[in-house]
Amino acid sequence: MAEEKKKTGSTTKTTAAKKTTASKGSKGAAAALQVTGNATGLRIGAVVLWVLAIAFEILAILLLFGKYEITFMPTLACLIIFIVLDLICVIIGSQLWKKANRIDPASEKNSLKFWLWNNMGLIVSVFAFLPLIILLLTNKEKLDNKTRVIAVIAAVIALLIAGAASYDWNPVSQEGKEQAMQEVTGTVYWTTFGKVYHTSSECSHINGKDNVDDGTVQEAIESGRTRMCKTCADRDGYQIDENGAVTAVGN
Ligand SMILES: [Zn+2]
Repeated sequence: MAEEKKKTGSTTKTTAAKKTTASKGSKGAAAALQVTGNATGLRIGAVVLWVLAIAFEILAILLLFGKYEITFMPTLACLIIFIVLDLICVIIGSQLWKKANRIDPASEKNSLKFWLWNNMGLIVSVFAFLPLIILLLTNKEKLDNKTRVIAVIAAVIALLIAGAASYDWNPVSQEGKEQAMQEVTGTVYWTTFGKVYHTSSECSHINGKDNVDDGTVQEAIESGRTRMCKTCADRDGYQIDENGAVTAVGN
């Protein structure tokens, strides 16, 4: 009788384990499907803004070459307005692109696509300002020297700001995200401006702060907290890698 009970118990256990795996799998697939649509919208938004950015650069270049004239404003003011509009479009586009990459990350198996996907904003930044900078530097007769120098400085500063704001400093790979979602099943915590998530609300980096949000690790990654806090990882026995993955070590 006791033996039978034991047997039944172990059978139930196995079935339960299988069930968990199955539901995890289908849940993961459903979530992936759901978020891909969302990410596509963000990518389209990013591309539209980037095209607009290039359009503003072209307007600046055409103005430089005297293809049209603006009479109610000095040329320099006009160039700077185009540079600023170009910059705004690049930065917002890149934020949408980065958000899409957190929802639907590229696989690290294809290293070229992974690199391109994570650096797309940076590449666009170069295209959005470098041609204008080169044309300003090489066409000395088009503008007076002072106007030209100020315009070049404005465009270089814009390129640097756009590049820094577009570069993905904490990229996450598809494998890294999936791995973190499998490994970290409890609630995680993050602060409004924090770049990492914490596995404990008692972590010394967030303890006592009043702007702490919580949610699943998926929510943390999709809101831009792609890495586990180092202190939390050490405490929980996790190793963190550069693409967002966390691996249990030691135990
Ligand atoms: Zn922490």
